Amino acid sequence: MNTNTSYYKPISQFYKEKFGEKVYKVPVSVFDTCPNREGLKGMETCIFCDVWGSAARAESKTLPLDVQIKKYTAHISKHFKAKKFLIYFQAYTNSFAKVQTIKDYFNRALEHENVVGIVVGTRPDCISPALLKLWQEIHERSFLSVELGAQTFDDKKLEYLKRGHTHDQTLKAIKKIKENTSVDLGLHFMFGLPNETDEEIIETALKTNELGIDHVKLHNLHVLKDTPLEKDFFDGSFTPIERPDYARRVGLFLSHLDPNIYVHRLAALSSRSDELIAPDWTSRKMETHQFIIDRLKEFNYKQGSRIPVSNSF
Ligand code: SF4
Repeated sequence: MNTNTSYYKPISQFYKEKFGEKVYKVPVSVFDTCPNREGLKGMETCIFCDVWGSAARAESKTLPLDVQIKKYTAHISKHFKAKKFLIYFQAYTNSFAKVQTIKDYFNRALEHENVVGIVVGTRPDCISPALLKLWQEIHERSFLSVELGAQTFDDKKLEYLKRGHTHDQTLKAIKKIKENTSVDLGLHFMFGLPNETDEEIIETALKTNELGIDHVKLHNLHVLKDTPLEKDFFDGSFTPIERPDYARRVGLFLSHLDPNIYVHRLAALSSRSDELIAPDWTSRKMETHQFIIDRLKEFNYKQGSRIPVSNSF
């Protein structure tokens, strides 16, 4: 298998430069809700979100944090000879709790041997001054990376996804984080949304270039069991994007993305295969990754290669 990633700048490169060796992200689940699930201000569950709140492992919810860390780091060490770890607070909204509670979890995670930092998955409208202070404190002491679920910069599409925040709130959150902290900051985007155009994908990349963020993670909108999107899929109002089209959109995005921005994975993952309804290619992680890489090469979609001269750095 050809895993040549010279067509984009993988986040693994950043980790290697920063920590001197390969670093593995260990997803954990400690919180069990978010503003959407609580129905705050009339919010509803995001249409794609399953009952696990995007947790990587269903069992995590029932295990104490220390047990999760010990169990998953041991497993990764055994299989990949890993020596350094980042603890990824991934499931639900990891800033939707008392700051002291969050602080206690972070501190406990950092006490574990070979844990070199924290990664926080959250949404743009859950960021208080006290939380920013905590993030900065942890970052100065160790390393803290924030992954904000932007998903799209189009308000109509955010409404469709039932995200409960606007694109303007995403921009304000980024500004707030950058003005008050020096944490590592990234955005998650979703492609394959209804009525998505090539122009929108390009605009999203060009706008991202202006935000001063450090990394992006890309997903295709996929259908999981027991989600609002499942109903749309079965009544025919939502059709998942085909893999070649998704790969083309990834190529369009990357070729307009600042070559200095690191890239996490290129497509969505479904950790629980029995939960995935469609598209089936989402379940074939390595094959899909290779498929996208092959399309990047075939159409010469090198990261940053198509940024218009007027937008270049
Ligand atoms: S995606 Fe995140 S914000 Fe949306 S419902 Fe799921 S846990 Fe809540």
